[in-house]
Amino acid sequence: MESNVCVVGGGIVGLSSAYFLAKTGHSVTVIERDSIGSHASGFAYGSLSPLGEAGHANDILPELEIARMGMDIHTQFSRELFESTGINTDHRFRPALDLIFTASEATEAKKQIEWRTDEKGYRVEWLSNEEALQAVPHISKEILGAVYTEGVADVEPYKLLLALTQACELLGVDIVHGDVSAVIREGTSIAITTQSGVRTCDNLVLAMGPWMGKTAEWIGIKVPITPLKGQIVKLNAPNITVNCSVGWQGNYACTKPDGLLWAGTTEENVGFDDIPTTSGRDQVLEALNKMIPNLDDATLVQHTACLRPLPVDGKIIIGSVPNDQNIFLATGTGRKGILLGPAMGKIVSQLISGQQPEVEITSFSPARFASF
Ligand SMILES: Cc1cc2nc3c(=O)[nH]c(=O)nc-3n(C[C@H](O)[C@H](O)[C@H](O)COP(=O)(O)OP(=O)(O)OC[C@H]3O[C@@H](n4cnc5c(N)ncnc54)[C@H](O)[C@@H]3O)c2cc1C
Repeated sequence: MESNVCVVGGGIVGLSSAYFLAKTGHSVTVIERDSIGSHASGFAYGSLSPLGEAGHANDILPELEIARMGMDIHTQFSRELFESTGINTDHRFRPALDLIFTASEATEAKKQIEWRTDEKGYRVEWLSNEEALQAVPHISKEILGAVYTEGVADVEPYKLLLALTQACELLGVDIVHGDVSAVIREGTSIAITTQSGVRTCDNLVLAMGPWMGKTAEWIGIKVPITPLKGQIVKLNAPNITVNCSVGWQGNYACTKPDGLLWAGTTEENVGFDDIPTTSGRDQVLEALNKMIPNLDDATLVQHTACLRPLPVDGKIIIGSVPNDQNIFLATGTGRKGILLGPAMGKIVSQLISGQQPEVEITSFSPARFASF
């Protein structure tokens, strides 16, 4: 049944929800208090891998099915959003090369290879030092070896957000500026207060990223999400092109289609402080130099910081809240929200349309926090 839906949050999760809801015939309003894509969704690295990233592969396992779905939607988006908006989101398939420096990293990596190889559509193999250096000549000669993975991809997150925004607007989504300060159930509708007044809707999607903790006072259960800061640098590195995503222990680097070498990242538990710092920059550059030495000629072009929404149990949160079947939460994507966000948007749209989601989501329900 078509309904009037409000989505709070103009990040990848909120906009993807709005896109799929509008395509299904719902009347949708997105409320964003800053600018669309102005937080993690617009400033992430943009790596897309259901197999996880270097040193963090196990993190993705609970959401593997949703990650596979996300991978397919990204491929679909790269055509569909370009056709409707003319914006190229720089989606491309490019390999990943996870570097291994120690024997214990090698043991861990070889375990990852075992389950990664079972995943259809990917080629995963161990490369010796010589083979890895042949594949990517700029990497450190100090490595013991590397894990090479084909079938993974990336996207330019900010361009993706721009394309999604325009595509939403073409589908009739109303995108408005507003800081939501209250949500109240009023009979058959839900009233949402912003500084410019109160609007009502039949269904509400809360996709506020790391700021979801605030929703406890509206929905009667705690949403245990904390911000985890991450910093990224973009360098102009003459004569060095890295055509795959080189990774090591959660750090990564790749030459993106804009010609710049993007490198990250930090994991900082510093509350809602999202200001780039010199210590964050130095930490990223130190890891980058370990992975790709000889960057003396490189110049710093951009340095950004943003906040990941980190759930207390490490799993995404998606579904309606226990005491209101018309209020939906969609968040908790941590380090993988660019990959998972479009799939979560589609699932939200299926739930609101009364359809069975195409993947199992019971273990991601907000109900698991009812006794917190
Ligand atoms: C450095 C870094 C690199 C990353 N790299 C990758 C990667 O390579 N691959 C990957 O898959 N993921 C990556 N991520 C993770 C990904 O960026 C996040 O998981 C994802 O962007 C979260 O999306 P979101 O829509 O939930 O939140 P956000 O992007 O934070 O959007 C939430 C929005 O809600 C708005 N909002 C909050 N409260 C209110 C309110 N009261 N009223 C109105 N609006 C409100 C905010 O202003 C914000 O715009 C990275 C993250 C970081 C920090």
